[in-house]
Amino acid sequence: MGNDFRYIDENLKEIRYNIAEAAAKYRSPEEQIRLMAVTKTVSYEAVNHAVSLGVELLGENRVQEYQSKKNYYSSLADVHFIGHLQTNKVKYIVDSVSMIQSVDSLKLASEINRLAEAKGRVMDVLCEVNVGGEESKSGVSPDELEELVLRMSEMKNIRVRGLMTIPPPVDSDVFLARMQELFLETKSKKIGGADMDVLSMGMTHDYVQAVKYGSTLVRIGTGLFGARVYK
Ligand SMILES: *Cc1c(COP(=O)(O)O)cnc(C)c1O
Repeated sequence: MGNDFRYIDENLKEIRYNIAEAAAKYRSPEEQIRLMAVTKTVSYEAVNHAVSLGVELLGENRVQEYQSKKNYYSSLADVHFIGHLQTNKVKYIVDSVSMIQSVDSLKLASEINRLAEAKGRVMDVLCEVNVGGEESKSGVSPDELEELVLRMSEMKNIRVRGLMTIPPPVDSDVFLARMQELFLETKSKKIGGADMDVLSMGMTHDYVQAVKYGSTLVRIGTGLFGARVYK
């Protein structure tokens, strides 16, 4: 009986070491960098093991998969939605996540705002930015970002906390640096009073560089749980 999750302990040790090392080299000591466990295709047992090791922040990509696992998650888990979100699915997650990181349209923002209001809550959100201008990816273009942040900041039941991105896999340094620039620029303008403190970037293959370029939240799946097995 029981699962052997020692590989997760080992992987986590290495990830924490790498983050600490990059932070010591590139960042000031008071800056916090949060580690998120990205759970797609991972069993709730493995996820709960990561939570028990102190990785309480979870990233969910798929509404249906999340629905099927959430009741089994540890009560310590703090869940952010990070996947592409259709407007008609917001209702399934609005009660149980503390942040939606993948907001890239006014239509989606309005629906989150509407449902959050109905629930009497304020939802933290990030704007997803398609920093590489890739057709296959979601996210607003850097040109549209300010306008979206401005319009979102006018919505009472949404709080814009920052930006999220998945940069192109090649030349990621260039795009991570561009994203840092965009974040600092948008943050300093305090658009519509938005008080931004989250820059969500960095995955298994680029989290060390992401820390170098100012990430405050890295999202790691395969590096923590191993290769994904799709069923
Ligand atoms: C899958 C995913 C990740 C994690 O990717 P890995 O390469 O497995 O670390 C991070 N962010 C988003 C939005 C994802 O969909």
